[in-house]
Amino acid sequence: MEYSQSIKAIRASILDIASVVDKPEDIEQHLRFIEDGLMLVDNGRIEWVGTWEEGKDKIPDSVRIRSYPGKIVMPGFVDTHIHYPQAEMVGAYGEQLLEWLNNYTFPTEARYKDKDYSREMSAFFLKQLLRNGTTTALVFGTVHPESVDALFEAAEGINMRIIAGKVMMDRNAPDYLLDTPEVSYNQTKELIEKWHKRGRLLYAITPRFAPTSSPEQLAMAGKLKQEYPDTYVHTHLCENKNEIEWVKELYPEQDGYLDVYHHHGLTGPKSVFAHCIHLEDKEWDCLQETDSAIAFCPTSNLYLGSGLFKLQEAWQRNIKVGMGTDIGAGTTFNMMQTLNEAYKVMQLQQHRLSAFEAFYLATLGGAKSLSLDHLIGNFEVGKEADFVVIDPCATPLQQLRYDSSKSLADELFVLMTLGDDRSIYRTYVDGRLVYERG
Ligand SMILES: [Zn+2]
Repeated sequence: MEYSQSIKAIRASILDIASVVDKPEDIEQHLRFIEDGLMLVDNGRIEWVGTWEEGKDKIPDSVRIRSYPGKIVMPGFVDTHIHYPQAEMVGAYGEQLLEWLNNYTFPTEARYKDKDYSREMSAFFLKQLLRNGTTTALVFGTVHPESVDALFEAAEGINMRIIAGKVMMDRNAPDYLLDTPEVSYNQTKELIEKWHKRGRLLYAITPRFAPTSSPEQLAMAGKLKQEYPDTYVHTHLCENKNEIEWVKELYPEQDGYLDVYHHHGLTGPKSVFAHCIHLEDKEWDCLQETDSAIAFCPTSNLYLGSGLFKLQEAWQRNIKVGMGTDIGAGTTFNMMQTLNEAYKVMQLQQHRLSAFEAFYLATLGGAKSLSLDHLIGNFEVGKEADFVVIDPCATPLQQLRYDSSKSLADELFVLMTLGDDRSIYRTYVDGRLVYERG
């Protein structure tokens, strides 16, 4: 094999899921766990994966082997719904969705008009993702194009796969945060031209949610999607019952909440709808028929008292689902803590979320929901080398519980129940080390 200068050899246990699946029962048969594994990475791509024994002779003499004994290398986590400007308001007390937006979110987002401030917070935000092992995220900016420029510039600096967009919002919010249909169209168009497919960056057309956009603005969003069909659409759907009633009042001519988006051409394989808790049957049908994706955000849904997402229904209908932290209504950047809460959300619905299913949703399933499963989500040769080195025994309690675990399923379940940012030992993006635990 010919290797470039950037070749890396990683020795550790290796875990991934080899294939996208249609039902959760099929995940286990595609699970790959190599106790003493070797991964070769070249130029930011996965070059070879197998056992240490099979692979050790493939390592060029000049390459220093990075050994992580007792650690598990997994694909980097995929966060399918997060707001970077809300990192500074996590844990805002006492409200449900609509009041929470007015009292906390909107005043906070006003600060992102300032490019320097956006830069500072973008750097903070990306560091938080990396220290939690998240290597890809679908991200809300604010209404200000400066916020998106700052985030993309920071992500470009480490060649990180980030999808983001400027919020489109022209009503039902404070004046200082509103654009107009025309301004939002022009600014979004300019941002798409500048950033979409530049390196690993991708653009999402981002109307905040139906109540804060006029029909004219959603028509503009649909026009953009038509003009740039391979961009994403990222918004919220059916999170809270008062919100749904409000949408029905604002859009009486449409047949329910999702129909507002569907009518404007905003459903489809690259559309990601956060929450989807209180869907009507016709809305499930529409998501299924249009191959739209859902971001399941358990910590947020519990925190704002929004409700319990019906994950089983999405599986039954073969609708793509990824995990979202939804910072700042969500309460953690950490995917293991998010899975821990997802487990409880499913318990409250008499359904067991296995560790295999959970880690699938956080890696390959998330990649699939973002139409990126051909590039990221597992260690197929040729895919982009975004991965995380997990320490399954980062605390005395984890060590104790790990020692008494009897199977891989058990070990992973303990990890998602007790794990947090301390479990993230190293994070690699594009084949390069970008975070080391102190
Ligand atoms: Zn959100």
